[in-house]
Amino acid sequence: MKRRRKKSNRNILSGIIFILIVLALAFCGTNLRTETLSQTHNSDTKAAPAINTSSELTVHFIDVGQGDSTLIQIGGHFMLIDAGDNSKGTALQLYLQKQGVEKLDYLILTHPDADHIGGADVIITKFEVGQILMPDYPADTRTYNDVLDAMKQKQMQYIIPAAGNTYMLGDACTAEDPADGTPSTKGSASFTILAPLASYDNANDSSIALLLTHGQNRFLFTGDCEETAEADIVNSGQDIHANVYQAGHHGSRTASSQLFMDAVAPEYAVISCGEDNSYGHPHAEVLNRFRSLGIKVFRTDEQGTVTATSDGTRITWNCAPSDTWKAGEPGGKK
Ligand SMILES: [Zn+2]
Repeated sequence: MKRRRKKSNRNILSGIIFILIVLALAFCGTNLRTETLSQTHNSDTKAAPAINTSSELTVHFIDVGQGDSTLIQIGGHFMLIDAGDNSKGTALQLYLQKQGVEKLDYLILTHPDADHIGGADVIITKFEVGQILMPDYPADTRTYNDVLDAMKQKQMQYIIPAAGNTYMLGDACTAEDPADGTPSTKGSASFTILAPLASYDNANDSSIALLLTHGQNRFLFTGDCEETAEADIVNSGQDIHANVYQAGHHGSRTASSQLFMDAVAPEYAVISCGEDNSYGHPHAEVLNRFRSLGIKVFRTDEQGTVTATSDGTRITWNCAPSDTWKAGEPGGKK
């Protein structure tokens, strides 16, 4: 009896092994097929006579220490969101020149805090700028007046964009996509203003927020919007789902609320903050929230300038996500 059971066990075991071998072979087959397909696809791409390399969009989350500055590039077209602190103007100018920037189609200054507009006077002076977008929130500071003076020198005025406004970036291609006849978005991207949706006492909540779209990829920028502005954006019913979210207010606990993160549901978050900054950014609460939502995090304080490149479908990064989950030192101002 005992022996027979052993024998039947052995039969069951060999049955299982047989099934596993069959499954393994089937999987190998699938892998081989996938590989062949992608090889064919690659060689097709190579064989194509005219590749529009300008269809790639690159977002540079520039390391400006404690502050924000993000360069967006598609083909020979550029836009800049914020310009870091006063001390970063020249370094930022050099970075932009290294990327081949001569003209910025747009300069967006999210709100008048020095860590966002400090370097803008240098940028306005040194580059041709198409349009300057700022919120209706003037500040009585030297830094703010320096920016206005630089605009005056260039005989420029800023535009106050309204939520819902959409702007194009790049060479809009009107040709139809041969695959399905829909208009091709290759070579161009667009961004839509999401906020401010009200007038706020607080400069941070008055930040311009925008959603940048390139093919299927969506990038969300909210400046230093805090919980109140975030709730207004969510309640406005705008579609703010994004693949990449630049963490609001440098990863402060006053932003990236649960309500907001549930609506954005990003795959990646980029935190722009300075090493050992006095605010303790990024705060542990925000890092924990990102971690529990399975968001991959990049940070300029640890990784320097971070770049994300979109081909309209996929996004590739210049470095691997940070895995330290290390919060700024506690005892910062907020
Ligand atoms: Zn800031």
